[in-house]
Formats: sequence, C-alpha cells, structure tokens
Amino acid sequence: MQDTLDLVHVLTRPFKTTIENDDGTRQYVEVHSYLDQLSEAIEGASTGGGGSTTRTRTPISLKALDLWKEIADTTLEHWPGKGKPHLARTPIAQRIQSWAATAINHNDKTREEDLNKYLNRWVQQIQQLFEPSIELAAPCPECHQSFIWRHDGVENVKKRTLTYNQHRAWCNNCETTWEGRASMANLARIINNNQPLNGNPAHTSQTGE
Ligand SMILES: [Zn+2]
Repeated sequence: MQDTLDLVHVLTRPFKTTIENDDGTRQYVEVHSYLDQLSEAIEGASTGGGGSTTRTRTPISLKALDLWKEIADTTLEHWPGKGKPHLARTPIAQRIQSWAATAINHNDKTREEDLNKYLNRWVQQIQQLFEPSIELAAPCPECHQSFIWRHDGVENVKKRTLTYNQHRAWCNNCETTWEGRASMANLARIINNNQPLNGNPAHTSQTGE
C-alpha cells in the first residue's frame, strides 16, 4: 500500500518529481498537483480558442471530465462535511484533505484503506491520461489471458491485457499491477526472459510459454 499522505500530497499540492527527457537526461522539477493537471486537461480544450465560444472537447478532455466528476461525487460522498449543503462547494482538494485527516487522526484503518484505494486509482488514471502506454504481447502471468474485449464507446475492440507506462505495468483483465521500476523488472524477468519491458513490445513471445 502506498503511503496515504503521499498520495494526498501529489493529488492536492504541487510536488517535486524527476522527469526523463527524450535524450535520456533527468531533471528534478516541481509540477502542479494531479488535480490541477486534471483540471487543466479539462480547461485546455475550451480556453485555447481565442474568443471562440464554441467548446470543442477532445477525447482527453472528455476522459478528464468524466474522471473529475467521479472524483467530485466520491469525495462528496466520503468527506466529513457530507450532508451539509452549504459545504458542497468546498473544493475537491480540501475534501480529500479532510477525508484523510479524519481517517488518520482517528486511526480508522478501514476508512484509510478505502481512501487509499481511491487515491491510488485516481493518481494512476490521471497519469495514464497524459502518458502513452504500451501494450505487451505476453499473456498476464496472473490470469494467463492475452486479450480482453473492451467497449470504447462506439464498438467492442480487442486489446492486449498487459500494458505499461513509465510508472507501472498492469493487466487490463485481472487488474494486477506491477508498481515501480523494481516490480516492473520483476515482471520482465517472468514474461520477457529478463529483457527490459521497453525492448520489443507487442510482437515477442507469441509462441512462448
Ligand atoms: Zn491478468
């Protein structure tokens, strides 16, 4: 389980992170909170028009908007101010912070685990909005499936189960997640004969184990 307060921090406050440039060099930079990044992704499509009143939603801003609504509803349901109508306008970041404060100050393990699960998922989903992910050809070592059918809003599309980005690898079928570099290296050992995941994605081990 990732530390709850760390998750609250990256979701609701600016934070320091290491980014890797295309040339492989690394930089230590301060970035906006994930909630701010999400809100910018929603705004992005509607403010760049230079006076145009027509709002065009791109797929990323639509996804961002859906996620924003989900976070708004969930935080409203769980935060300690629930049921006080005049408090419903409290910003989402503050709702998350007081949800966390209540869980942690009361040493309420169930509540904290619940919160942790939501925060973890939201951070992952926001990261996935902005980062390309790569599909892997190998079947998932947990559920042994290679493909999953997903409705993309228009039709059913066949997707590979194992996918990764720079933070983690995950299975779209059983939702097993390999979080972080060490864990991804471990997955590579299992599925890719010890070759790094970013070697040859999506066309290896078709006939393999
Ligand atoms: Zn799986």
